Parts: sequence; C-alpha cells; structure tokens
Amino acid sequence: MSLIVKQGKVKSKSKKSLFNDITSLSEIGEFGLIDRVAQLFREGEEDNRLGIGDDCAVLPSGDGSSLLVTTDMLIENRHFRMDWIDPEDLGYKALAVNISDISAMGGAPEFAFLSLGLHSDISTEWLDRFFRGTRELSAIHDIKLMGGDTTKSPSDMVISYTLLGLMDQSKVLLRSGARPGDKIALLGKVGESGAGLKLLAEKELNGNSKYQSLVKAHNRPKLFVREAQYLAEFNAVHSMIDLSDGIQSDARHIANRSGAELIIDLDLLPLSSTLTGFCNEYSCSATELALTSGEDYGLLFTLSGEKAGIIRKQFTEQFGYSFHLIGEVAEGDPAVNYTKKGRPFKIEKQGFDHFKTK
Ligand code: ADP
Ligand code: MG
Repeated sequence: MSLIVKQGKVKSKSKKSLFNDITSLSEIGEFGLIDRVAQLFREGEEDNRLGIGDDCAVLPSGDGSSLLVTTDMLIENRHFRMDWIDPEDLGYKALAVNISDISAMGGAPEFAFLSLGLHSDISTEWLDRFFRGTRELSAIHDIKLMGGDTTKSPSDMVISYTLLGLMDQSKVLLRSGARPGDKIALLGKVGESGAGLKLLAEKELNGNSKYQSLVKAHNRPKLFVREAQYLAEFNAVHSMIDLSDGIQSDARHIANRSGAELIIDLDLLPLSSTLTGFCNEYSCSATELALTSGEDYGLLFTLSGEKAGIIRKQFTEQFGYSFHLIGEVAEGDPAVNYTKKGRPFKIEKQGFDHFKTK
C-alpha cells in the first residue's frame, strides 16, 4: 500500500501567541487546547486526509484503503494506580483504549508501537504480568507489535500505545457524519466503569464482591471491533465515536463536528441492574454516571431514522444482542440536549476534561 502523504507546508504567518486571551488551561480545557493546536496546523492538511479532530487520523492510500492512526497514553496516578489494577489488566487496558479508537472508525487494528516510561525499581515479575495482559489482547485481534520506546521515568510511569489500523476508505465512520433525522444509537454498557472507579477509590466499598463486574468494566473494558466493522458496511450508518469521556462529552463531539443538535432521551439509556443496584446502595445517580463518568469504551453512533429498525434487526441476527436507540439528531445549533418523560431535562455535571474536571 503506497501512502499519499505529501509534505504539508506549514507557513507560520503570525508570531501571535495561541493564548493571548487566557492565562490558564482550565479556561479552555483539553478540547479548547486541541482546537487551537488544530488551527495552527490546519494548512498542513490536504483533501481526503483527516488529521486532528476524530478518534483516529485517516491517511488515504492510492488503492481505496485508508490507514488509521491513533495514540493514547495512560499516566500513573492520573489514569491508573498501581494498587488499584493488576499488571495484566493494565497491559490489557493500555492497548484496549487504543483499539477502541480504531473501532470507532469501523476499522481493524493491525500494528502497534509501545512507549514506556518505567520506574527504575519496577520488578521483572510486574513487567512479565503487564506484557502477558497486553499480549493476550493483541493475540485476540492479531495485532503485531512493531516497535516503541523505553525509558526510565523519574516519577510516575507512562504507558503510551500508538496503533495503526486499516479499512476501506469509503466506509470510514467519522464524528462529522450525523444528519438531522438520524437516530442516536449506543452499543455497550454505560456508567459501569465510573461505578467501578468509585469502588476502587472507596476502600470500604472495595471488598463488596457483589459489584466486582463494575471493577472489571473499569480495568478491562469490553471492545466492539467486529460489531463496528459490521456497522461500517451500512451506508445508512453515518457517524461514530467511542465513549472515553462519557456520553455528555463525546456526544458533543459528534454535535460539533456534524453541525447538528443531538437530543437524548434519558428514559432510553440502558442502565444495568448491577449499576442501578450499586447506585441505590451507595446513593449515586446511575444516569449521571452513565453521562459523565467516562472510560466505558462503548460506541455511540448515528444512523438513518428510516433504516434504524431493520439494521437493528440484522445486527441482532448477526450478534445475538443489539444496540440501543437513545435519541435523535435534529437541525439546530450544535449541542447535546436531554429529555426525560417527554420534557426537556438539564444536566449540570459535564463530561470528563483533563484540565477542567477537578
Ligand atoms: P480520543 O478520546 O478519541 O482519543 P482525544 O480527545 O484524545 O480523542 O483527541 C481528539 C483529537 O485531538 C484527536 O484527533 C487527537 O489526535 C488530537 N490530539 C489530542 N492531543 C493532541 C496534541 N497534543 N497534538 C495534536 N493533536 C492532538
Ligand atoms: Mg475516541
């Protein structure tokens, strides 16, 4: 496959600071920063090539296929704590969060690069177990580890995967494809990973074995690679994103990139009995967790309103279970709005943002 990647000429026209109007990142957040960086490098982009702004970069080849590229890192004491996750699960999760981004385009993961910043006193037993976990997941998806980088970290550990995938260019599912009249669909569970994190954080809840599936949802997220590839075959499936920061945040990415309003009916959110049981017992809101807690790694997508029923039926025949229809795309300013019992409903809490979320 020969890649059409010409050297983009990035002309710096102005020496003006990217941040004249602000002094702290918390004012614009993670996504405000990414938007500003994207604007600075926009001149480097060419037709059909997609850079910053989706789950993966998309680099078309000459032969009708596209190379998908994504990178995601996990930082100790930010994304994980050594005493909250087994090394096998951490090795698994570090790769899983990247596979999730490839699946969000409808693609197949193929080649990986792994960069590690390690404590100098990390044990060989820990490393052995970490690599066993990451090897287990790469074997399931036949992913080849092609390189990486290894260094000593003076403090917290860093684990960063870069993952390459391939797919038919005409089938790539972007965040920008949602159209008024589409139904909004959700594949996978929501809120469970956030509840699992609560369990891990509260030592006294930790031993409650009734809810260990929630901890598992946090440490070993379920992936939907084959399901997303199947959905990408339908022209009527228009947009997709994976749920890394919570529906609230991730649905907004679809709304912004598609220039449409997303209206989600909270009565249609699939909240599992384990999650609602947990929230009843420990006084939290299952809906709030589902919308704002992140790291569930399900898929949110939109598809033609007319075809939604038949695609859902075919999907069930193929996989033995199905996705949930949770709302509609409407013409309007880019935003995510909610209804409950048929009436507008406001959610105060926002999805996760590294620089805004306390
Ligand atoms: P995801 O949650 O799907 O991994 P992110 O929110 O991390 O997506 O990133 C959104 C987009 O911003 C992606 O296209 C990503 O490649 C890009 N991005 C994030 N950080 C940077 C950065 N420091 N420089 C350039 N692009 C970035
Ligand atoms: Mg993503």
